[in-house]
Amino acid sequence: MIAAVLRGPRSLALAAMPSPSPGALDAVVRVKAAGLCGTDYRIWTGERPVQYPRIMGHEFIGRVMAIGQDVSNISVGQMVAVEPNYSCGVCALCREGNRNLCLSRVAVGIDVDGGFAEEATVPARCCWPAPEGVSQERLLLAEPLAVVVRAVGRAEPATGETAAVLGLGSLGLLALQVLKARGTRVLAVARSTRRLSLARELGADAVALSGADDDVAAARTFSGREGVDMVVETAGTAAAVEQAVNLCRPGGRVVLTGLPHEPTSLNFFWVVRRELRIIGSMIYQDEFPEALRLLASGAVRADRLLSQTFPLDRIEDAFQAHRSPDSIKVAVIP
Ligand SMILES: [Zn+2]
Ligand SMILES: [Zn+2]
Repeated sequence: MIAAVLRGPRSLALAAMPSPSPGALDAVVRVKAAGLCGTDYRIWTGERPVQYPRIMGHEFIGRVMAIGQDVSNISVGQMVAVEPNYSCGVCALCREGNRNLCLSRVAVGIDVDGGFAEEATVPARCCWPAPEGVSQERLLLAEPLAVVVRAVGRAEPATGETAAVLGLGSLGLLALQVLKARGTRVLAVARSTRRLSLARELGADAVALSGADDDVAAARTFSGREGVDMVVETAGTAAAVEQAVNLCRPGGRVVLTGLPHEPTSLNFFWVVRRELRIIGSMIYQDEFPEALRLLASGAVRADRLLSQTFPLDRIEDAFQAHRSPDSIKVAVIP
């Protein structure tokens, strides 16, 4: 089978590899599509080092080609979405239900080989059968959607409440749809006009351009009070974290799911004065089934987010395209 093998920063080349054979609890998946995200980009550039050689790719879907002798949750021939993180299952964090926080967590495509290849081997417990009638274009977004389902869940939205979504990349555009499905009204806030009309098309009740518009005033007008009930921050920039605190009403909730790689100079005076709850949200625990239900019901229109696809032998073009401001989700088709 052919795989894109990373041998060092920006050193990515196709190579013929032996076809993987599954261990007793594994599945071999014929990869149909693998999405690219900021994490892959940071690994590709070397900003986030991994052990080389490495096959990247953690947002992937495919058809089960082979299963180990002790696998019972999936069968050969099934289309699956891969949950690309698994934990040790025995540490205190795992046993108390925080498996996403396990310090021995293994990330497929980062710690072990992933989906930028024709075939990938993963533990069968990481495979979720695709619901009937969900196209590959939609299924491909299952992993980032699971991230967002958890983030929105941690905001504990109640029907009729108001929410602001900060950042309109793929996570933000998914978050606004999940918030709508949970019955909240959504103000979408972005730093460029590019995504605002798509946000409206996907259900945003109002949009604001941060920088140009006074987004604090927009949050007040939109909510009809001191600010929105909750903010879901997906941009992962230091500025966005500060902005999230400013848009939230006293007593409201701020969920951070974009990973801010730089420190932020947040004024905690306002966190105390407004009794804000600032909540981190890290990948997912048990959110894959809900993500698949949202795709199956059509509540989340994930296919609208897929902006470009590239064959595996053009994977470097896919990385370039990922950086283009016009791209939302770029995928590789091995
Ligand atoms: Zn990702
Ligand atoms: Zn653990």
